[in-house]
Amino acid sequence: MTAWWRHCVRYVQGSMETAIGALYVREAFAGKSKLIVTDLIGEIKQAYIETLEELEWMDAPSKEKAREKVMAVKELIGYPDHILQENNEKLDEEYALLNFSEEQFFENTLENLKSEAHKNLKKLREPVDPNQWIIGAAVVNAFYSPNRNQIVFPAGILQPPLFSKHQPQALNFGGIGMVIGHEIMHGFDDNGRNFDKDGNMLNWWSNHSAEQFKEQSQCMVQQYGNFKWNLAGGQNVSGITTLGENIADNGGIRQAFRAYLKWVETRGEEEHLPGLDMNDKQLFFINFAQVWCGAYRPEYASQSIKTDSHSPLEYRVLGSLQNFEAFSEAFQCHKGSRMNPEQKCRVW
Ligand SMILES: [Zn+2]
Repeated sequence: MTAWWRHCVRYVQGSMETAIGALYVREAFAGKSKLIVTDLIGEIKQAYIETLEELEWMDAPSKEKAREKVMAVKELIGYPDHILQENNEKLDEEYALLNFSEEQFFENTLENLKSEAHKNLKKLREPVDPNQWIIGAAVVNAFYSPNRNQIVFPAGILQPPLFSKHQPQALNFGGIGMVIGHEIMHGFDDNGRNFDKDGNMLNWWSNHSAEQFKEQSQCMVQQYGNFKWNLAGGQNVSGITTLGENIADNGGIRQAFRAYLKWVETRGEEEHLPGLDMNDKQLFFINFAQVWCGAYRPEYASQSIKTDSHSPLEYRVLGSLQNFEAFSEAFQCHKGSRMNPEQKCRVW
């Protein structure tokens, strides 16, 4: 069981996300963040385009299609503008069907289910609205939608340690920068790659590149499938279930790092953090690890190793850094050591 307060917050958040989003944004979101994050996204798309050039497994026609697709990725950042309007008709309309009572929680739950079903049915046979937000603004998560070719970063995730305009860019690139890269990479993972730049299911790959993609992926299936998770009774991670997320993590950290190097090149080195004897590359990786820090109960570990499409948090960090030579350089890991194995996997 989750703690009660968490259960309640989640429930209200899940069933009234527009209203909660408006409260959250008014209280905690710095409007300027939207501009800064828009720039970051542009820099990371550019890094992906440059990375494509390095790849030997992909042929030129498929690279061209990949470039087109990444340029066409649409973005939603922060919150939908309408939620802050005074006398908000759209918001009133969204909740018009709800008839809550302060005393009756169970009946309120039914009201929510009814209204939700009604809203969903209304969408049937309507054209897809590309500007519609698929998630509330107060959510601490980010999304990629393959059939819209769209990334979404709600206001909730644009906060420390992932992002702040007051923290060094090394931390921002290692935090939200990596998450941006991760979401964009979902358009090019084992599932997302089946959709084209407009979000239609269409094979834009040459036979050669598609074969090579599968071969590169297979390396990660093996690598992550060898991780044994003690907390889940020593069970192995499923390299197949988690493949898409691992491809996204590995590509994400690489694009974010490249974008950060370029940022330093044009704007100059940053000042180091006082009291920490770390250079900016090390800080980049430390914040990457920091944002994925978390704890599981053993029962939850046993459940999530069977159901979660993400690798356990510690392996999300270790797996992608084992594959990344820039990490070994930054921390001087010897060739053949745990974090710098001879065999490295790379898709993007
Ligand atoms: Zn993901």
